[in-house]
Amino acid sequence: MQSEARQSDERTRMPGGESTDFAARTIELARRNVEEGGRPFACVIVIDGEVVAESPNLVAQTHDPTAHAEILAIRDACTRLGTEHLVGATIYILALPCPMCLGSLYYCSPDRVVFLSTREAYSEYYVDDRKYFEFAGLYDEFSKRWDERRLPLQAEQRPEALEVYRRWHELNGGARPRA
Ligand SMILES: [Zn+2]
Repeated sequence: MQSEARQSDERTRMPGGESTDFAARTIELARRNVEEGGRPFACVIVIDGEVVAESPNLVAQTHDPTAHAEILAIRDACTRLGTEHLVGATIYILALPCPMCLGSLYYCSPDRVVFLSTREAYSEYYVDDRKYFEFAGLYDEFSKRWDERRLPLQAEQRPEALEVYRRWHELNGGARPRA
C-alpha cells in the first residue's frame, strides 16, 4: 500500500501535461516493440518524476543476447548521468527480471524496482529456453555451486591474474566504488 501511495505521489508531480503513469508508459513501450518485431519487454527509469532513460528489449533486432530492456536502459541512464549509482531512481520493468538483469539492478542501486507482470503469468505465452537452462529454472541454476552448474565453468588459477588486482590496489588504495 505504501508503494501505491508513493506511485500516485509521483503522478501528481507531473511536468506540463505529460503523462506520468510510468507503468503505462513501460507497457506501451513493450507493446510497440512487439508490433515492430521485438520481444515483449521494456524498462523505464524515473528520477524525480522524470524519465531519464527507457528501452525495449532489442535482442531480436540486434542479435545481442544481452540487449535486454533493463541492461540497455541502465546503461543509457548511467552514461547520460555520469554515475554508476541510480540513487533515487524507480525502475519500471514489464516482468520480474531474469538473473542477468537482476544482477544489473543490484549493481546500479535504484530506490525501487516495479515489475508489471510475473514470469508464471506470462509463461503461457512466452518462453526463452537455451542450451544451459530452461526459462523456469534459471534462478535455481544460479544458486548451485559453480562446478554443479550446467554451464561448463573451468577453474585455471594463475598468480599473474592476482597480480593485476594487487597492482590495482597499489594504484587506488583499496577505494571501492560505493554509492
Ligand atoms: Zn533480462
